[in-house]
Amino acid sequence: MHSQPVEFFQRISMYLAIVCIVVLTPFAINNFAQGRISIGIGASAIISFFAFNAYSISILKKYYPSLTLLALMPAVVGFLISALVSQGIIGALWCYPAVIAFYFMLPERKAWLANAVILASIFPVIWASFDPGLATRIIATLGIISILSVVFLRVINEQQVQLREQAITDPLTGVLNRKLLQDSLEDAIAQNNRAGLPMTLITLDLDYFKKINDTHGHDAGDKVLRGVGEVLRTRCRKVDRIFRLGGEEFLVLLYNSTAKNGLGTAEDLRQAVAALESPDDSRITISAGVASLQPDEDWQGWMKRSDSKVYEAKLAGRNQVASCDGH
Ligand code: GH3
Ligand code: MG
Ligand code: MG
Repeated sequence: MHSQPVEFFQRISMYLAIVCIVVLTPFAINNFAQGRISIGIGASAIISFFAFNAYSISILKKYYPSLTLLALMPAVVGFLISALVSQGIIGALWCYPAVIAFYFMLPERKAWLANAVILASIFPVIWASFDPGLATRIIATLGIISILSVVFLRVINEQQVQLREQAITDPLTGVLNRKLLQDSLEDAIAQNNRAGLPMTLITLDLDYFKKINDTHGHDAGDKVLRGVGEVLRTRCRKVDRIFRLGGEEFLVLLYNSTAKNGLGTAEDLRQAVAALESPDDSRITISAGVASLQPDEDWQGWMKRSDSKVYEAKLAGRNQVASCDGH
């Protein structure tokens, strides 16, 4: 299961902080006024923590999930126990928002831990405070609320992961679209600078693709593009990144690969594409350019060199690989 990015918890914690401060403050004041000092202190501790969280998220731009777990959880447990002991069923009502809140403020494992501690601390108090019929119902409904919160959060999580994947994937071929292109190339350059890992680009363009569209229709062209996407996905390693730059042009970023390896991979891809089923008797072919990263090169310059080799391969008769490094 994928976890939410930290911004998710930041945003929710910010809203929760505002809601809690606004809603809890009058109750805290009332508790002090009524002489229920321990509930008042518990509520004030929760309010103070939320105020700190709001300050830290909005001003310091930092969010501390572990601190939320370690500081807020004991405050909530203390507050709930004193509310249960001194107010009975009215106090029990606070258990419900408390059980839900942690799932939206913490990564799942920490939220599980917080809830387990809270429930384990309050169940005996609930059992001792109410008759067995009522206590059983309170415990059962708290359990249901807790489980439902996990279910909701998991569904939201899965949808977010899907949306994130859709946003970076080309729907026709299943390879990456251009969204992560610049970041990926810059990341590869950084890794090269830091650890000296060789990085190589292959740019490839289908030969006479317009003719396939014109002769057999756009759907046949799409099928060819899907086939090429599959060849690239199955032939490259998991660490490599494959992008569809647009139309019938693709780019493969080979991590930790020398120009010689890149040339071998490009040649392998060229042959695999040529073995694809074609809409007619002619073969589907590609022209490819290979460029390994040079010292002090930026991502645009690197891409340009690899692209220029594609045109060299085209001029030299297509269905071939040209490399900047002359292997
Ligand atoms: P060359 O060998 O010089 O590369 O010739 P070419 O015909 O492959 O090159 P050109 O750039 O002229 O043609 C690219 C064609 O790709 C034109 C456009 O209609 C087609 N195309 C672009 N995107 C798609 C797509 O998503 N699906 C289909 N079926 N065709 C597309
Ligand atoms: Mg082409
Ligand atoms: Mg093209």
